[in-house]
Formats: sequence, structure tokens, C-alpha cells
Amino acid sequence: MIATITEANSISRNLVAVLRSILGLPKKLIPLHEPILGRAERKWVTDCLDSGWVSSVGPFVTRFEEEVAKACSARNAIVVSNGTSALQVCLIGAGVGYGDEVIVPSLTFVATANAVSHCGAVPHFVDAETATLGLDPVKLAERLDQIGEFRGAQLFNRETGRRVAAIVPVHIFGHPVQMQALSAVADKYHLPIVEDAAEALGSFDNDGRSCGSLSGIAALSFNGNKIVTTGGGGAVLVQDDDLAKKLRHLSTTGKLPHKWHFVHDIVAFNYRMPNLNAALGLAQMARLEEFISAKRALASAYADMFQNISGMRFFRERAGTRSNYWLNTVLLDEADESLREQVLADTNNAGFQTRPLWMPLHELPIYLNSPRGDLSVTENLALRIINIPSGASLGPQGIS
Ligand SMILES: *Cc1c(COP(=O)(O)O)cnc(C)c1O
Repeated sequence: MIATITEANSISRNLVAVLRSILGLPKKLIPLHEPILGRAERKWVTDCLDSGWVSSVGPFVTRFEEEVAKACSARNAIVVSNGTSALQVCLIGAGVGYGDEVIVPSLTFVATANAVSHCGAVPHFVDAETATLGLDPVKLAERLDQIGEFRGAQLFNRETGRRVAAIVPVHIFGHPVQMQALSAVADKYHLPIVEDAAEALGSFDNDGRSCGSLSGIAALSFNGNKIVTTGGGGAVLVQDDDLAKKLRHLSTTGKLPHKWHFVHDIVAFNYRMPNLNAALGLAQMARLEEFISAKRALASAYADMFQNISGMRFFRERAGTRSNYWLNTVLLDEADESLREQVLADTNNAGFQTRPLWMPLHELPIYLNSPRGDLSVTENLALRIINIPSGASLGPQGIS
């Protein structure tokens, strides 16, 4: 059913009314998400400048890594220049190489697939499910069953002839994927899981485990729009100590430790996070729980208000999980592009920044030729998802 113009008008009006009642009347555009930078951030960054150690070696890097690892219950954290490079290093760590195929959702930010491409591999798109917006374990199993063929212990795509090397679930908007079910499928097909936890710092699965530690290896992002920022940055979380050592070496130009000689034993990356960024991150990490608590209070206020609004619903965390509610999400009842466009226009014109879902990756010109299963749920969600203002400065516990 296509929404009529009057229906679209009333849906827009209702949404704007909810946003006004929780966020107030905007004096200027209320952004989707903005970082909170305070006195501690200024102090740590100034301390870093005063020390003269602004580049990739320095005490803040090590301290920041310890805090990140602790927050995610990971044995090792390696901080790098951004989330995309973190994912690429994770994929290499999981054994992904040139000519492989990697299962990724189409419903994600483009970096998930780009990191696969940067390894010389090809993303293979599988659909999302509506309880978490993450990779659908049932459709994943169906797809692997349909295209997969074991040659020895390794799985190959019998249609493309490429080896299937890994699965990358993404915790969309901070909502934990159904990892237990996905892991069972991964085990059956002997595939490693690389977790894209870029949006999910501080989220927990329903067994109490932290996102970023639900598989052996995971990537985080500290981009300016994420829950904790270093300006730009990312982290590789690794449980295995030997692998962590290798990946740290791979991200740090492959330089062998020596007081004065430059000897490099592998063709490596220069991906390490500068000390200056780590100083900012250290200040931010101290406030992670405060940020999450403010964001969850905002989400809870939205959830209450949207309960009595027709034409849409507020997307809530799966029972038993703790989402960090990185981006709050409204799901329109109807999948109708003109309705979505009108809602986006009306809310933005009313001073509230709202955004649609990223264009599904399988529809991007760069990935039109990538293999894919049925993506009907992703296509439906893309017409219905509206992200609404989500910063930790907003709502009943908004941080000033
Ligand atoms: C932000 C993000 C990334 C990449 O992080 P950058 O730091 O921007 O490179 C990867 N995956 C997802 C799902 C993200 O949201």
C-alpha cells in the first residue's frame, strides 16, 4: 500500500511532535550525533602536546589500549588510524587473502565491504533480520548451503569458484547481532567470524558478554560520529596473544625492535594510532558509561513516546541485551520511498537532523557485481529506517 499525501503529512507531523516534546524547540539544527568534548579532553591533549610525543609511539597509546581492552573484556587491543583499517587488519588476522570471498551484510556502512576489498577479496552479501537489524543466521545458513562446497576442510562458492574465508556480522546502530546462532552456522561451515563492532562499544549480548569479544577478533571505530571519539581512530580486539603480537607488528610497519637499525621483516602497514589521538580517547573512555547511560535514557524516553504514535515504531534492543543505542531508529510501518523522503524533509526542516539508512551496499555501483543471496529484508528496511537525534547531550539525562 502506498501512503497517501495526507497520511504522509500526518506521519511527519507526529514524528516532529515527538521530537519536539523530548528535545525541545531547536534553536539551530539538532544533529544526529555529536561528540562531547570537555575539560578532561582538553587537559589530556594539552598534556600530550607538552610532552612532545604526538606521534605513534607514546604513553597515551598504551594506556588507551588498556582502557579499550578492559571495556570490551578483550585480552588485547591494538589501536589504529581508523575503523576501516582495523577491519582490514582483523580480516588478515582471520586468514582472508587475495581472491577470497567474505560474507558481509548489505545493511551496513560501506567500510565493512571496503575492508574486504582492501584485502583483495570480494564481499558476498547476505540479508538482515528484523529483531537486531544484523546478519540473519537462518538466511546465512540457507545461502551457504546453496552455494557452498567443501574441498577438504575449506568451503568454496561453487558458483564463483572462490574460497569463502570468513563471516563479518555487524552490530547495527549498537544492537548486538544474534551471535550464538551465527556462531553455530560459522562452526558448521568451518568459517571464522570477524566482528564489526564499530558502532557497538559498550553494548552487551544477552549472555552478558561485550560486543567486540563475542568472537576471537573484532574491530572498533573512534570516528567523530561514534560513541567515543579520537578524532579518527579504530581498534583491533584480539583474544589470542600470539595473533595480537603478529597484528601489532603488521600495523606498525613490521619494524623489528632495535635501538638504531631499521629492519622490516614483512611488507606491513603504517596504521598505528598517534599518541595525540590516544590522549583524546583516554579522556573519552573515562566517560563511556556516562555517555551510555545518557543515551539509554534518551532511547527510553523515545520508546515511551512512540508507543502511542501510529504509522511507525521505535526500534528497541533485543530482550536481554544492552544496546549502547548509538543511533536511535524509527521504523516506518510502510516501505514507501516518497513517504520516507517526505518524513526526512519535514523533520530536517523542523530543525531535527534525521537520516535514512545507508544505501544498501549491493545497490552501490561499486558492488553491483558482488555475489549475493536474497536481500528482500534489507531492501524493505532501507525504505523504512529513519535515524533520529541520538547524542549523549540530548534527552532527560543529557550531558552538557
Ligand atoms: C564507522 C564504521 C566503520 C568504519 O570506521 P571508520 O573509523 O569510519 O573507518 C566500519 N563499520 C561500521 C559498521 C561503521 O559504522
